[in-house]
Amino acid sequence: MKIKKGDTVLIISGKDRGRKGKVLEVLPKENRLLVGGINLRKKHEKPKKQGEKGQIVQMPGAISVSNIKLICPKCGKVTRVGYKILGKNKVKICKKCQQEIE
Ligand SMILES: [Zn+2]
Repeated sequence: MKIKKGDTVLIISGKDRGRKGKVLEVLPKENRLLVGGINLRKKHEKPKKQGEKGQIVQMPGAISVSNIKLICPKCGKVTRVGYKILGKNKVKICKKCQQEIE
């Protein structure tokens, strides 16, 4: 998978289309990921102690990799990942600005 935790991505489909968020978790087997603030689902949390109230927390739901695009951390544009050989290493580069991205 070309996207990793901590990357900023743009949502290109679904109800959060056009919004940006940071990748919280990548689920490579499912080709899905969790993005902060995107595709929020309400989850009821039971009280942990007696006397406490249960609460509703919002958790991001996994979205498909095909519904997002990577935003380059260097130039801030929506981009695709390319590769370049640097000595013995293959590094990821932004196809827009050609700069290395981690
Ligand atoms: Zn770039």
